[in-house]
Amino acid sequence: MNESVNAYLQKNRFPAIDLKAVLIDMDGVLYDSMPFHAEAWYKAISSLGLPCTREEFFLYEGRTGASTIDLIFNRAYGRDADEEEKQRIYNHKSRLFVACGAAPLMPGALDFLQQVKARGITPVLVTGSGQHSLLDKLSHDYPGIFTPQTMVTAFDVKYGKPHPEPYLIGLEKAGVEPWQAIVVENAPLGVQAGVAANVYTIAVNTGPLPDSVLLDAGANLLLPDMASLARDFETICSQLTTR
Ligand code: CA
Repeated sequence: MNESVNAYLQKNRFPAIDLKAVLIDMDGVLYDSMPFHAEAWYKAISSLGLPCTREEFFLYEGRTGASTIDLIFNRAYGRDADEEEKQRIYNHKSRLFVACGAAPLMPGALDFLQQVKARGITPVLVTGSGQHSLLDKLSHDYPGIFTPQTMVTAFDVKYGKPHPEPYLIGLEKAGVEPWQAIVVENAPLGVQAGVAANVYTIAVNTGPLPDSVLLDAGANLLLPDMASLARDFETICSQLTTR
């Protein structure tokens, strides 16, 4: 892991990591919600008579809903969706997602966030989601962790992941520089966004994609799940800051 820290510092010409904020994704990291999202997207898009697969939505994870709908529309019609279409389809997808039931909490995520807080590090939520049902649940499931000032959602961003914008806004909200934060992500587009924001990016592979997809996206460190991150966080912190 020391090599990955050195490679990160050299690439970005930063002298050292001084960890003050953890920028953390929501779907597939705090909630095991991706299978539900894939199912809801599949049903919403199929109901329009447009062909798609459940699997493809794991690859689009991290995009805003509007950008996913544009991608499908361009494939089918060779044009972006208009605002009314985007809103109608995203609302339908959101209702289908809610109908899937409560997404389970990701094992290890609360333990990890409590350790972050105990170390005086600021946790910042950075998600492309505009799913009110999940955002409202956050304060209940992860009490005392996030405030409205430390959340970046679909309502804050214009571009969404893989653009660095959501993580740049996250850095701004935390009031820190890229070398003062880490990103925790599960999806290839999210990893790309973290890396593009010049932040040391930890990938947790909680889904069905092969590890190589996350490493190719530029992940600085790869872990199998959030429980491993919680278990190893003390060691990771010391390796990030000691060289
Ligand atoms: Ca995610």
